[in-house]
Amino acid sequence: KPIVAIVGRPNVGKSTIFNRIVGERVSIVEDIPGVTRDRIYSSAEWLNYDFNIIDTGGIDIGDEPFLAQIKSQAEIAIDEADVIIFMTNGRDGVTPADEEVAKILYRSKKSVVLAVNKIDNPEMREQIYDFYALGFGEPFPISGTHGIGLGDLLDAAAEHFPKEGEEEYGDEVIKFSLIGRPNVGKSSLVNAMLGEERVIVSDLAGTTRDAIDTKLVRDDQEYVIIDTAGMRKKGKVYESTEKYSVLRALKAIERSDVVLVVLNAEEGIIEQDKRIAGYAHEAGKAVVIVVNKWDTVEKDEKTMREFEEQIREHFLFLSYAPIVFLSAKTKKRTHKLLPVVDMVSESHSQRVPTTVINDVIMDAVAMNPTPTHNGSRLKIFYATQVAIQPPTFVVFVNDPELMHFSYERFLENKLREAFGFEGTPIKIFARPR
Ligand code: GDP
Repeated sequence: KPIVAIVGRPNVGKSTIFNRIVGERVSIVEDIPGVTRDRIYSSAEWLNYDFNIIDTGGIDIGDEPFLAQIKSQAEIAIDEADVIIFMTNGRDGVTPADEEVAKILYRSKKSVVLAVNKIDNPEMREQIYDFYALGFGEPFPISGTHGIGLGDLLDAAAEHFPKEGEEEYGDEVIKFSLIGRPNVGKSSLVNAMLGEERVIVSDLAGTTRDAIDTKLVRDDQEYVIIDTAGMRKKGKVYESTEKYSVLRALKAIERSDVVLVVLNAEEGIIEQDKRIAGYAHEAGKAVVIVVNKWDTVEKDEKTMREFEEQIREHFLFLSYAPIVFLSAKTKKRTHKLLPVVDMVSESHSQRVPTTVINDVIMDAVAMNPTPTHNGSRLKIFYATQVAIQPPTFVVFVNDPELMHFSYERFLENKLREAFGFEGTPIKIFARPR
């Protein structure tokens, strides 16, 4: 998906526009910790466009002075986006800080669309003419508070979207990423995988998105490890900030089929691990939980089970994800990783025939009667799988409102008992017949 980034000095209204474009997206899953709160990166659908959007204003660069902050945010936009929306404030006119941002964007050769915000009524339109001086062509008047002008602005941005088919890999290739906090051992794990006897590494390929991916082959199965570059530290100021590393991880997740959530056995589980894992789940990716540095833990026969219980408690929404305990350092069990990736990738693409699904659903209904509300009872007519990656089911019913969350969970469990789906989320939608 194309990536749009919003840049501009503080208080021009970047987050207002971001939120307007993203809209309120209601998550159907209730127990994911705070992934939608405080969001700076999101997928968005607007008119006929389907893209991802970044609010660089939400990336706090720490103790840097004002101007340095703005510059770092602009650089992030340049590194990460296909199109940049450069936002200014029509009420203030062109300020020196706007000119600084313009200079950085100008040098970058990225596509830039200039927006002049806070043009709340037609009389104010004259304010936009000064902004031609920034050198990005026609300024687009918008009003974040009234939601005016966004359609035209996004039309202009969409003209710079990369054309379909320009990027990415064939369907037969399994794309996966390793995500986790700095120092959990992601790069060490990649190196361990690449060093395996049966693994053949093709050359490092730069993609259209200046992310560096690594291609490898094992027993005729091709893989691409997404954003290997993001796992190495490059040393720009902003690259050590948490928001930026989260952003980088979210982008990698977006491009992956399978996400390896890497934990550090030495340090246990923290909130940031959960947020990123929650995003992988929300995005419908297959997930494997990897516990690295298992060599550092003093063990007896109960240690692994106890650690597993802890993980299950913290990652309730990932109950389907297999857990692999290993050590990138001693290479113990690192050879298990690619076979597990194969397995969850297969679940992620699994298709089940409609007749078999209906046998399972009807047995489930016979065992546990459908819920009722205000005297009407949910009636299930039939169910069918409508998509893979992740497996997605539509259940045709008398009234979708009667499909209670807990009943949906029950049906999900029954489908899992019958068909496995290990390592993949599955989605169920109730539709009126
Ligand atoms: P990344 O930031 O997640 O890519 O982490 P690195 O791969 O750079 O590893 C961070 C540090 O942890 C390095 O000093 C590694 O040598 C060390 N490390 C990685 N894997 C293991 C492991 O399995 N056991 C131990 N003891 N140390 C490890």
